Amino acid sequence: MTQAVLVIHGGAGAISRAKATPAVTHEYQSALRETLERGSRILEEGGSALDAVAEAVRLLEECALFNAGHGAVFTSEGRHELDASIMDGKTLRSGAVANVTLLRNPVLAARAVMERSPHAFFAGPGADAFGRDAGLECVNPSFFSTDARRSQLLRVQATGEATIVLDHDGQSLAENPGTAASPLDEGRKLGTVGAVALDLHGNLAAATSTGGLTNKRPGRVGDTPLIGAGCYANNATCAVSATGTGEAFMRLVAAYDVSARMAYQGRSLDEAAGCVVFEKLPAIGGAGGLIAVDARGNISLPFNTEGMYRGYRRLGQPACVAIHRDR
Ligand code: ASP
Repeated sequence: MTQAVLVIHGGAGAISRAKATPAVTHEYQSALRETLERGSRILEEGGSALDAVAEAVRLLEECALFNAGHGAVFTSEGRHELDASIMDGKTLRSGAVANVTLLRNPVLAARAVMERSPHAFFAGPGADAFGRDAGLECVNPSFFSTDARRSQLLRVQATGEATIVLDHDGQSLAENPGTAASPLDEGRKLGTVGAVALDLHGNLAAATSTGGLTNKRPGRVGDTPLIGAGCYANNATCAVSATGTGEAFMRLVAAYDVSARMAYQGRSLDEAAGCVVFEKLPAIGGAGGLIAVDARGNISLPFNTEGMYRGYRRLGQPACVAIHRDR
């Protein structure tokens, strides 16, 4: 019997156990749990892994706690540029969008690219136009903005550093020292959301979505919308969704590397994912993690930061969620 399972992440980063009040921790855990419940219901009803990951990522995009969709970080010019991708492990079809500014749910735009165009990747105004023409919901860009993200940008810019800041690095700057704002140190958390799934029919799928990096230069694109870097799925091996310093994941073609190690070296999912996260990424200064599932339902959720918002749910079992590294 297929071990159908849904796995999700909401970004990786550094631990801040002291600052994480039970109430705030509970808020994040509840958001992860609810996403798992609603996404895995699709698998329970015999739906596809593709439907489950698209819905899980859509829900995370709608949640202001995470850096994707509503609640996305700001560019250096105070705007939002969103990236997303999706891949079907059964057919190897994929879709992606980059620098979207008007589409409410970038993951749905990525899916529309995959299913309703002969292409695999749209960027910028063309991506917004494609989504609009496909009938997807468009919003005023202010829909994506939250006060927390705006003060995050202002604080980052006030440091005078002409640098980009990984989502939760920026948030810690945005908070008063000593206040509790999130279970991970928002000063050192990477932000992106993602999902991978194995359905009852034995098919795999992956999806990833992000607002990118706080104070990023307009036009900058990370690993999230790049198939093979931040997202990959192949029924013959595994499905992977990544979060972390995008440039490093791009240089390593990280998500595909997990699959390739399984295919070419005969490694297990956990060995392949661990090699990428604990050996390859640190060797080039890459920080972050990934979630992965193979065709048998084995899962792996490695990260080389101190924590990663993460969780999984196997059918018929309760959802498991975690934020910090197990002690
Ligand atoms: N990987 C994303 C990017 O580089 C950011 C993240 O995961 O935090 O855009």
